[in-house]
Amino acid sequence: MTDDHAPSALQSKIRSLAALDEGARQPESIAPESIAEEDAEARRLLALLASEGLLAHLVPKAHGGKTERVLNVTVCAIREALGYRYGPADVAFVMQGLGSAAIAASGSRDQKDAWLPRVARGESIAAIALTEPAAGSDLTAIATRARRDGDAYILDGEKTLISNAGLATFYTLFARTSDDPRRGVTAFIVEGGDPGFRVKERFRGLAAHPIGTLALERCRIPLSRRLGEEGEGIAIAVKVLDFFRPTVGAAAVGMARRALDETVRHVKSRRQFGAPLSELGGVKGMIADMATEIEAASLLVERAADAIDAGRGRTALESAMAKYMATETAQRVIDNAVQLRGGMGVIRGNVVERLYREIRALRIYEGASEVQKNIIAREILRAGGKLPTP
Ligand SMILES: Cc1cc2nc3c(=O)[nH]c(=O)nc-3n(C[C@H](O)[C@H](O)[C@H](O)COP(=O)(O)OP(=O)(O)OC[C@H]3O[C@@H](n4cnc5c(N)ncnc54)[C@H](O)[C@@H]3O)c2cc1C
Repeated sequence: MTDDHAPSALQSKIRSLAALDEGARQPESIAPESIAEEDAEARRLLALLASEGLLAHLVPKAHGGKTERVLNVTVCAIREALGYRYGPADVAFVMQGLGSAAIAASGSRDQKDAWLPRVARGESIAAIALTEPAAGSDLTAIATRARRDGDAYILDGEKTLISNAGLATFYTLFARTSDDPRRGVTAFIVEGGDPGFRVKERFRGLAAHPIGTLALERCRIPLSRRLGEEGEGIAIAVKVLDFFRPTVGAAAVGMARRALDETVRHVKSRRQFGAPLSELGGVKGMIADMATEIEAASLLVERAADAIDAGRGRTALESAMAKYMATETAQRVIDNAVQLRGGMGVIRGNVVERLYREIRALRIYEGASEVQKNIIAREILRAGGKLPTP
């Protein structure tokens, strides 16, 4: 890896990108006024990330990327820095990876050539569509149907809570091709303009995040848009999620670090009882907990990223531990930051209030914390209690 691709160099570059803060300072990003504003901001951020070459870290070199293969440690470094600066930038960044990873891993040469270079340049916007109204944590309940019809597939169903709904050029979409719960799901590439595809509804989230429901009504796509073989969908999805879970943890660590920095500045300058808040024993204890927990979470994220990049086979345990610990930690740290900001901590227009809304979804998407705990327990029980300590 050349120096300007090193994780620390990328983080310094992101720290110096003044254009990132433009959106973070505008009132609509603190409480987005409309879906149109949210979309415009997402597009602005994507163009910025593309022009800085950051999106190219989400695609392998052979298809327009920076490094031979996508490195978890690099994606983590970028997400941590973006999470620190501005949550919507982190979402715009990672969706390009989440939406295209299945193509990089399981796509044909033609599929990779058609999609990945455009993703790396920000010319195509990517999305991943797994969740349905009745299939959230349990992916084996996916009910969207894909029926073979000559040289095409016809898709019928609904996907909900899909990031980039309406913005995306294409969706890596998972649909059922047979009744077998695990081996009956297949991955497809569905384009925003396909006949029978529409965005049914857009939602407003706690924090700025383009998201909504997709409807597929006799949506016809060519056979060449199937990813991998029929029945490989769940295995493909699990691989993508295992890779990206530590990176969710990294974004959470970035948000928590920002909350700590904001808190340190505040408690040193805010005076009550004749002295700065930082001199109060209770406040010192909170600062100590925040800092120590962030460091512990950060180490778990690093370990998971290293294990993945080293190709250490099964990394479900490390990935789940990293996501679980980092997102739960960040929620606690940010809650303490709001607490130490006092009443102004819950007033719109300050950074800790924005972080408080931005962190919440990370404990739910890509597997809620309870689902991560199930994975951790399953892996530990399978290994007879053996921990992955190096
Ligand atoms: C901001 C945001 C962006 C998202 N983006 C996408 C996207 O781009 N693509 C996509 O496909 N999906 C996306 N999702 C959906 C997300 O992945 C689901 O919300 C998540 O998997 C949980 O599914 P659910 O909402 O149906 O909750 P449910 O599955 O109904 O679960 C509800 C709660 O029950 C508990 N629970 C569930 N299962 C278990 C269990 N086995 N053991 C113990 N407790 C359990 C957990 O507390 C869980 O939060 C997004 C969600 C959000 C909030």
